[in-house]
Amino acid sequence: MTSQVTGPLTRAAAAGAAERQPLLRANVGPEQQSDRVRQRIVMEVTDAARRHWIWVVPLFLCFVVLAALALWGLIRAIIAVLKYEGVPCDVPLNMYLVVLVVWKLFSDWILKLIQFYSGNNASVYARIPLNIPSWCIIAWGFYMVQSSESCAKTNPDLFYDTRDFIYIHACYSFVHLWVSIACIFGYRWVLRLFMQMSATPGCVAAVRKLPKISKDSEELIDRDTGWVMECSICISSLATDEVVVQAPCGHLYHEECLVPWCQSHSDCPLCRAQIGDLDPSPASGSTNV
Ligand SMILES: [Zn+2]
Ligand SMILES: [Zn+2]
Repeated sequence: MTSQVTGPLTRAAAAGAAERQPLLRANVGPEQQSDRVRQRIVMEVTDAARRHWIWVVPLFLCFVVLAALALWGLIRAIIAVLKYEGVPCDVPLNMYLVVLVVWKLFSDWILKLIQFYSGNNASVYARIPLNIPSWCIIAWGFYMVQSSESCAKTNPDLFYDTRDFIYIHACYSFVHLWVSIACIFGYRWVLRLFMQMSATPGCVAAVRKLPKISKDSEELIDRDTGWVMECSICISSLATDEVVVQAPCGHLYHEECLVPWCQSHSDCPLCRAQIGDLDPSPASGSTNV
């Protein structure tokens, strides 16, 4: 989970960094570090969701019901296409599912290629633009349903079953899109939300006082690989305009990634070493965010 050295960071700088005081790091590779932090975050979020089940469960059930309805609508639409494909219809509704499935298979293949050449992070971001053709197909389906003059009479099974699937699929895709956008672009917001649900105190004030590492510092270079290190919380490069802080244990994070974590923790997400003193109270901790 490292990215190629760019800008002022070079392999020569990496060699220089190797001669300096080595960073205190866990005895695992960067990929394992990120996996370890991810596992901890997932456990914490699961635990927070369990404690706040009263509103998490209804939301989850709504999503499950919507997904089940979409699946049911899909099965009905497939059966209708197979059974009534030869019956006259003034719009090509029988092609809707075919186009949708072909695009789905093609976009999955593109995602696998992106994942293979550019890593998991790039493939996650690529999902958003790859959604655009899917929405165009849904819009095409809406247009066919609205513009059809006789299909409801000549081929009612195909018309109504495909129409119902288009509607429910649009609803499901809409919810899925916004959940994806929230998780991808609002990752820190989602993390902050779940960490705020925890009753345990944090150390946000201590994080704000941690030493800052400049974006062209040699400290950001992995001395083993010569590549820029990544923040183990968001799995993004540390060599950006974002403020990077160094925990007392030596691990580096974006400040804005460590703050949400430390709203309910006072230890390093990776090695569990103490980061700083607890905030005086949850209220005073949150005012520092
Ligand atoms: Zn980060
Ligand atoms: Zn640490």
